[in-house]
Amino acid sequence: MTKTAKQIHIDARLCKGCHICITVCPHGVLRKAEVVDNRGFFLPEVADIEACRVCRLCELECPDFAICVEEITD
Ligand code: SF4
Ligand code: SF4
Repeated sequence: MTKTAKQIHIDARLCKGCHICITVCPHGVLRKAEVVDNRGFFLPEVADIEACRVCRLCELECPDFAICVEEITD
């Protein structure tokens, strides 16, 4: 059964814009934002949530526990 994501939460207070999550995502779900936040960081943003397979690599590899994938459950 294919897992699908309901929402991907990125905590802007914890994220430091290292883009590890973007690099490790095997499905191109995340991308770098085009504008900096108020600390001067380019945070990640969701480019294609439909492509997310809830592998949770982004969660596992984020050094700051700043990203969380919410899974659809029936
Ligand atoms: S890996 Fe974590 S800290 Fe780095 S950009 Fe992604 S969410 Fe932010
Ligand atoms: S859970 Fe997997 S597929 Fe979904 S955004 Fe994170 S790394 Fe990409």
